Amino acid sequence: MDSAKIERLVTELLAEIGEDPEREGLRRTPQRIAAALEFLTSGYRADFKALINGAVFTQEANNMIIARDIELYSLCEHHMLPFFGRCHIGYLPSGRVFGVSKLARLVDVFARRLQLQERLTEQISQAIMDAIHPVGVGVTIEARHLCMMMRGVEKQRAVMTTSSLLGSFRDNATTREEFLALINRPCP
Ligand SMILES: [Zn+2]
Repeated sequence: MDSAKIERLVTELLAEIGEDPEREGLRRTPQRIAAALEFLTSGYRADFKALINGAVFTQEANNMIIARDIELYSLCEHHMLPFFGRCHIGYLPSGRVFGVSKLARLVDVFARRLQLQERLTEQISQAIMDAIHPVGVGVTIEARHLCMMMRGVEKQRAVMTTSSLLGSFRDNATTREEFLALINRPCP
């Protein structure tokens, strides 16, 4: 990422919206935005293979594994405004499992890009499927979108829910119901 170029573009943008890029409060804003964008889009540059390789363990578990309430922050690709919420992941392993903290890292790798919530949900479930070939995987994201809350339809309370079900989570109604019951159970 060319930070100097982004800083120049932000300076132009500030002038274009009617601001004075030279006034005190804005003088370092282009640098701050460049640094923030570097972080918020770091998923494009993440070493996904290395993340997966260090995170997979052999284990003869065959019960459903659930990681609930993983915090999620992303940017919508239509407005480059944040959407944020929670991600729930469940899978039925077939000999290989993920380290729990790595599931959260995997969510971040895909969230730190310009995204659609639907695609983000798909990418997470597909990445888990490709990495450990579980019997099935389910991913659900509940998120609020600032582009809906601050502008446009101004629906401040709307929560958008998306899910992606693969393998037995898609094909087996009992498995799917178990997953939904586990992620909807009140927190202990
Ligand atoms: Zn949007």
